[in-house]
Amino acid sequence: MEDKTLIELKTKIQNKEISSYELTKFFLNRIKKIDPKLNAFITVTENDSLKKAKKIDSEIAKGNINPLSGIPIAQKDIFCTKGIRTTCGSKMLEDFISPYDATVVEKLDKAGMIIIGKTNMDEFAMGSSNETSYFGDVKNPWNLNCVPGGSSGGSAASVAARLIPCSTGTDTGGSIRQPASLTGICGIKPTYGRVSRYGMIAFASSLDQAGIFTRTAKDCAILLSHISGYDVKDSTSSKKEVPDYYKECTKKFEKMKIGIPEEFLDGLDSKVAEVFTESINIFKSNGCEIKKISLKNSKLGVSAYQVVAPAECSSNLSRFDGVRYGFRANDVKDIDELYKKSRSQGFGDEVKRRILIGTYALSTGYYDAYYLKAQKIRTIISKEFQNAFKEVDVIIGPTAPDCAFKLGEKLNDPIAMYLSDIFTVSTNLAGLPAISIPMGFKNKLPLGLQIIGNHFDESKILSLSNHYQNLTDWHMQKPDMLGET
Ligand code: GLN
Repeated sequence: MEDKTLIELKTKIQNKEISSYELTKFFLNRIKKIDPKLNAFITVTENDSLKKAKKIDSEIAKGNINPLSGIPIAQKDIFCTKGIRTTCGSKMLEDFISPYDATVVEKLDKAGMIIIGKTNMDEFAMGSSNETSYFGDVKNPWNLNCVPGGSSGGSAASVAARLIPCSTGTDTGGSIRQPASLTGICGIKPTYGRVSRYGMIAFASSLDQAGIFTRTAKDCAILLSHISGYDVKDSTSSKKEVPDYYKECTKKFEKMKIGIPEEFLDGLDSKVAEVFTESINIFKSNGCEIKKISLKNSKLGVSAYQVVAPAECSSNLSRFDGVRYGFRANDVKDIDELYKKSRSQGFGDEVKRRILIGTYALSTGYYDAYYLKAQKIRTIISKEFQNAFKEVDVIIGPTAPDCAFKLGEKLNDPIAMYLSDIFTVSTNLAGLPAISIPMGFKNKLPLGLQIIGNHFDESKILSLSNHYQNLTDWHMQKPDMLGET
C-alpha cells in the first residue's frame, strides 16, 4: 500500500476498495513504526485524522465525493492549521495554536484531504539540512547518518520513506527542490504568486512560495492544480487561470528545446556530472533538442539571496516580540528586557544570524552598499533568465551540487551550507517555477535533476518531468526503511 501513488489511492477510494479510515490508519501505523528513526514529524494528529476519515467515509457512502476525498497528506509546520499546533520549527512558536487555516490548507481540505500531521523543518525555514529545527534533526531515509536537506526536510523524508503519499513544502531559496533531490522524490516550487502565501509563516515575502512533494510528476500536477489560484487574502497571488496540470502534463509529449547553462557544469562533482549527462542523453534521444546557454550571473545568486532574504526576514520576524503571541521570557523588569529576553531565548542561532545580517544590510549607510546592490543583481539575474527563455523552453541542471551530506558536516560552516543552494536560489530571485525529480545515485544516495521554466510554465516542466519518468525508473527506487525491499 505504501508504494501506491496518489492517483492509485484516489482510484482505490473512489472504487470503494479501501476506506479512508483504513488508509489513514495504515499511514499512521507506518509513522508510528518508522518515524522514531527519522523524526520527520513534529506533530501527528492521530485522533483528529481518524475522526475526519470516518466522517469522509460516511460522506462517500452518501455519494458526496470530492476529487481527493479521504487521502492523507502531511503539512509542513510552517502552514497555519486551525486548532493544530503550528511551530515553524521554533521554540518561539512551540505552543502556538493557529486560530485559522492557511489558504493551502483550506484548499486541500476542500478537495477532501486529511491532515495526518505537521512535518519537521529548519527553524523559520532557514537552513539546507533540517538541523536548525528546535525539534531536532531529521534523518535521511537513504542513510540515517545523512541530512535530508532543508528546510522542508520532514516533508521530504516522510514522502521518501513512504510514511505518506504526499506533503506540502515551501521554497524561499530551494527548500522544496534541494530536499527532494537529497531524498530521491519530486518537489515542485511554482511561479511566485501561483499559490497563495496566506497563513504561511513568512520568511522572505518576495521569495517564499508554497509547493508540493510527491513521488511522481503526475501526482505533483494533481496537487498543484488544487493549491494554485488567486486569493483575496494575498495581494501577490496571481489572477491567471489555473490549468488542469494533470491533463497538461499527460497529453502527448511535444518536442522541447532544453537549455543547459555552461556555468552549472563548471567544476561540478564528477559523479553528479556523469549522472546528469546520462539524463541529457535520454532527452536527446527522446524528442528534445539540447542547447548550451549561458547564465553567467547566476553565480551571484547566493550572495544576492543572502542579503535579500535576511533583510526581509529581519522585518518579518520583528513580530515575535514576546508580547503578542509565541514564547515570552520570565523574570523581566521592563518591556525592553521582555523583548530582549524573549527573542534571545525564543530564537535559535541560525535565525539570530539572519536577523543580524538583515538588520545590518538595511541600516542607514549600508542599505545602498548591500541591499540596493543585491536588488540590482536580482534584476540582472531575472533579465538573464528572460533572455535565455527566448531561445529555449526550459532550462535543466543538477538540483544540488552533491548528494546528501553527513549530519553535522556543514553545521559550523554557514558559507558551505549556503552554497548547497547554488543551483536553486536564482529561480526564487527571478520568481520562476522549477521542479526537482530523481535522476540517479551517488554512493547509494539520490541525486536530483532540476527543470526550470519561464513564469507560469508549470505545465511544461511537469510535462518534461513526466516524459522523463516514462523513460526511467529512478523515481521508483525506495530506501529500505523496514527491510522491505
Ligand atoms: N536553504 C536556504 C536558506 O537557508 C533556503 C531556505 C528556504 O528555501 N526556505 O535560506
